[in-house]
Amino acid sequence: MRKQIVAGNWKMNNDLAQTETLITNLKGQVKTTKAEVMIAPTFTNLWQAYQTLKDTEIEVIAQNMHFAESGAYTGEISASMLKSVGVKTVILGHSERREYFGETDEILAKKVDAALTNDLRTIFCFGEVLADRKSGNHEAVVESQIKNALFHLDASAFKNIVLAYEPVWAIGTGETASPEQAQDMHAFIRKTLANKYGADVANNMSILYGGSVKPNNAQEIFGKPDVDGGLIGGAALNADDFFAIVNAF
Ligand code: PGA
Repeated sequence: MRKQIVAGNWKMNNDLAQTETLITNLKGQVKTTKAEVMIAPTFTNLWQAYQTLKDTEIEVIAQNMHFAESGAYTGEISASMLKSVGVKTVILGHSERREYFGETDEILAKKVDAALTNDLRTIFCFGEVLADRKSGNHEAVVESQIKNALFHLDASAFKNIVLAYEPVWAIGTGETASPEQAQDMHAFIRKTLANKYGADVANNMSILYGGSVKPNNAQEIFGKPDVDGGLIGGAALNADDFFAIVNAF
């Protein structure tokens, strides 16, 4: 059975006090879940979040990292630094990193390698922009994003990878992919993996959907056979909404 995962990507929201408040509200609700639950606060709050949540079922994960191990990269954070504050999973390739910080497939391939070398599980994000969807290029775009960043890896590396399909036109816009659009793309992603690595890798891969998942649409999206959970942005900033989504399985 594939793992079901719901991960909250807090993005650049919540200072230390706000992080503590949201975590306190989340802690009260954790026992009710079937899925693995993760939250990704900002770098400055990871240690505090980890200390507060380490004996619970909520895993604290990071939103990004650099591929270098250490050195002259002002403002950056390495895999081993994340590990030193209790982080075991990192989100890589989010569309905001690609769009605002120039992260290319080539850079992301290096980041994935650095994460895996350091035994960090990677939630690898990708997805098409609206123009690709409108022109019917969405599958080709997604296929190339996956191939360029991941297909240099051995099959065994995929044990430490989770995929997150996030159509850019659905992120933070209130417009979700329909459950059918999500299912079709997730099935395509699984087929792409199967063609390269075989049925075992494909069938064991958790593929999350992200993009305006809310309490009122989570159940229908998660109900699709190839959707194994969600990467949640806006709705992860409210404990009740987040757990309504977690409990939608
Ligand atoms: P959203 O963000 O849920 O606010 O659309 C999703 C994401 O960026 O991961």
